[in-house]
Amino acid sequence: AVLARDLRRSFADREVLGGLDLRIRRGEFLALLGRSGSGKSTLLRAMAGLDPDFTGQLLVPQRRSVVFQDPRLQPWKRVLDNVVLGLPGSRSENRAQGLAALTEVGLAQHAQAWPVTLSGGEAQRAALARALVREPELLLLDEPFGALDALTRIRMHGLLRELCRRHRPAVLLVTHDVDEAVLLADRVVVLTEGRLGPAHEVRLPAERPRSHPEFAALRAAL
Ligand code: ATP
Ligand code: MG
Repeated sequence: AVLARDLRRSFADREVLGGLDLRIRRGEFLALLGRSGSGKSTLLRAMAGLDPDFTGQLLVPQRRSVVFQDPRLQPWKRVLDNVVLGLPGSRSENRAQGLAALTEVGLAQHAQAWPVTLSGGEAQRAALARALVREPELLLLDEPFGALDALTRIRMHGLLRELCRRHRPAVLLVTHDVDEAVLLADRVVVLTEGRLGPAHEVRLPAERPRSHPEFAALRAAL
């Protein structure tokens, strides 16, 4: 479903992505680990179509959605209006779909609220609803839970897993958190020196909960 080949991106004379290859199958949940500054967000922005200045081959579905670490809701639009912003359908169609998405993330009662009245976790759930309502074939998540407290993060993990089970998008989750990667992903890759080496890839067993000898390998690769 998703294919990147020989992706390269430099800033000034610093090469951040140095010929990176990546494949994500339909419905696969891939977690991307890497140290701060290793180029994770750079890769995600390229895949999101937000960076015209990379080189290489990139094959991604048209319908893709991004959730960033901060929810990026527009403060002067109500939650539901944020969720449906830019959708092509009729107003009533969009509102029905937006409400359904808000219901899925447990926010239906906040549909008419202003974003500023939401908690951090609620705002992030609204951002997830805004992504889901677009029925993405590729869901790009850049540390979406990084700013949340531990309990809210655990709830969000459950919610994300449930949503992915139901909608089956291909997912690329960027995270610092090895436990989060292992909990959620089918496969984990580690970005080092601008590349994804097969040595830094771990395929996780389907059974959960997992306790896997490769956890240590992933931590070591960071
Ligand atoms: P973090 O985990 O801290 O979010 P990251 O892996 O997402 O890090 P990137 O944001 O992709 O890292 O940045 C990778 C490198 O590219 C960094 O050294 C950063 O300074 C540089 N970089 C990213 N965007 C730009 C830009 N627009 N101009 C110049 N340098 C940039
Ligand atoms: Mg980043």
